[in-house]
Amino acid sequence: MAFLVREIVKNKRDKLVNTNEEIAFLIDAYVKEEIPDYQMSAWLMAVYFNGLNPNEAAQLVKSMLYSGKTLDFSNLNRVKVDKHSTGGVGDKTSMIIAPLVACTGLYVPMMAGRGLGHSGGTIDKLESIPGFRTSIALDEFQKIISEVGTCIIGQSTEICPADRKIYALRDVTATVESIPLICASIMSKKIAEGIDALTLDVKWGNGAFMKSFDRARELAVALSAVGKAYGKKVIASITDMNQPTGLKIGNSLEIEECMEILKDPSCHKKYFDTVELSLHLSENMLLAAGHSKTREEARAELSKHLHSGAAYEKFQQICKIQSGDLSKLPKAKYKKEVYLQSSGYISEIQTEHIGLAGIMLGAGRKQLTDKIDYTAGFELHYKLGSKYDSKTPVLSMFADSQDKFAETENKLLQCFKVSDSAVTLNPLVKEDIYSY
Ligand code: URA
Repeated sequence: MAFLVREIVKNKRDKLVNTNEEIAFLIDAYVKEEIPDYQMSAWLMAVYFNGLNPNEAAQLVKSMLYSGKTLDFSNLNRVKVDKHSTGGVGDKTSMIIAPLVACTGLYVPMMAGRGLGHSGGTIDKLESIPGFRTSIALDEFQKIISEVGTCIIGQSTEICPADRKIYALRDVTATVESIPLICASIMSKKIAEGIDALTLDVKWGNGAFMKSFDRARELAVALSAVGKAYGKKVIASITDMNQPTGLKIGNSLEIEECMEILKDPSCHKKYFDTVELSLHLSENMLLAAGHSKTREEARAELSKHLHSGAAYEKFQQICKIQSGDLSKLPKAKYKKEVYLQSSGYISEIQTEHIGLAGIMLGAGRKQLTDKIDYTAGFELHYKLGSKYDSKTPVLSMFADSQDKFAETENKLLQCFKVSDSAVTLNPLVKEDIYSY
């Protein structure tokens, strides 16, 4: 071995600098399985506590990016654009955005992740559709994009294998909430995709990895700077994650919500925030791609595709080519309603804990090898600020087994606060940062 891993970890632990060569070695050797998970976990925890300086952070992006192949879409003559979220609860916009933006003629090559910490992952959600292939070879990925306009895959052994391994390790070692680690994870994947433009949904609040707006803003600026350094046009939106997005939380439940939205505009009011966020981020993509001149112009085109059913048809096309059978989307065997004790206005939802309650119920992994119950999750009946009547359920729990209902219910009851007076809500999108 060229370096002693213990010394690299020790330097980071002691707030010293890791050299470019050390970081390049660490990532390369970890991908080749020459470094065990426990040493990588120790380094990740040291980075979590002590951060990386700008040079170290840039080297981490570079090493993760070149741990695999990068895509070349120069044969496709239209703009390639993607969106990525920093993660939240009920965050399901990818399933709406990918088909919707593909309807405009732009290409959307989307590489997404699995559940991370308390947050759900697009790949787990899509895999709840029986047969849906998220592991697709690069030549097929490129072929699907040229034919359908979009394709959604997970981190592969070919693209960013370093992120695939490190992401899974961070998920179970409590090392997610670190700006340089999130930045390298997201931007290595996005740059490898061969895109021209990108929108980032940077979440802030009690269900986000960045709890304060200021930290989320710091992350948005860091992500955008990496994008700019690699010549990508980026719009980062800082969005509210102080309550779950939409009403359904859990893998197949979230697919269900997206299908309702894509199929039936009459439910858009019910799922207001999912719809509005999806449209805003899609507008960003059309603007960053240079496809639309103004937000209004972008909104008009997107609304047309959403309301006409064209985006739903596009999603069906995605399912067909990625072998997913939407008609077999699993439904939970069991359901249990959860009631709060007092009536009033819903004044707080502990969103991260809702996500953790979902993991408790089986919707996410506690360990790397855990199997997911795709049907497990919740349907919220009240959003933040709404008037709650304690004779009605605040949410419903769903799962394939009733074993975890009691302990999950206990956890959920602590996630809500009810007050006598109405609360002021945060704007869904607090700031847009344009970097091009
Ligand atoms: N999404 C990612 O892809 N990586 C992170 O680290 C966080 C969110």
